[in-house]
Amino acid sequence: MNGHIAVAIDGPSGAGKSSLARKAAAKLGYIYVDTGAIYRTVGLAADRAGLDTHDEDAVKALLPSLGIDMGYNTAGEQCMTLNGEDVSAAIRQPRISMAASNVSAMPPVRAFLLDMQRKMARENDVIMDGRDIGTVVLPDAEVKIFLTASPEARAQRRMLELEQKGMSQPYDDVLREILQRDEQDMNRAIAPLRQADDAVLLDTSDIGFDESLDRLCGIIGAQLEKKS
Ligand code: C5P
Repeated sequence: MNGHIAVAIDGPSGAGKSSLARKAAAKLGYIYVDTGAIYRTVGLAADRAGLDTHDEDAVKALLPSLGIDMGYNTAGEQCMTLNGEDVSAAIRQPRISMAASNVSAMPPVRAFLLDMQRKMARENDVIMDGRDIGTVVLPDAEVKIFLTASPEARAQRRMLELEQKGMSQPYDDVLREILQRDEQDMNRAIAPLRQADDAVLLDTSDIGFDESLDRLCGIIGAQLEKKS
């Protein structure tokens, strides 16, 4: 109720949230916020500091020294900086995915990052994607979507994405990591990944990118119309 529109998109990794949300945001003229990138930045910092990313006390002690900022480059892509260094590429390394999932299960980490996410939505029309946007970060979002796909479809897409970035991984490894992260993200005690009661489900297992985008934009349009 701050005069800005918020679209919350939650779902498991590899469902296509980022690429679809980025395109939808460009169409609508909203800012796209990839909250996974913020958790990845904390995961990277913990990894670089040589910490055990399951050690909550150690990660908590690290937080005050972290200057995390989110910005946009001239191409409109979200960039993450860690104490002034652009870490947008470094946070995409496969080992950082698990580190992000590990640190994101820690209450002090979630509390540390909450304000940053809410501030973006207070000041802009946003499409924000993550795991707990519709349930915890923006429970009053005008539109909530739960975007998912089968683990096999997600692994296939993730594998192609990694290949394009020159970080190829075998399919079985990618699938195993996806299942492990799903398990961890859905079963943690704080802000577990789940569909908000008022979220619309979009399953992209059997549809391509363009159709997924059409459906996503269709849901957003219909939900906003309902609210107006
Ligand atoms: O979305 P992405 O795969 O980049 O997120 C990396 C990890 O960050 C996820 O596996 C999840 O554990 C965590 N995350 C989270 N809450 C969010 C976004 C991401 O816990 N809102």
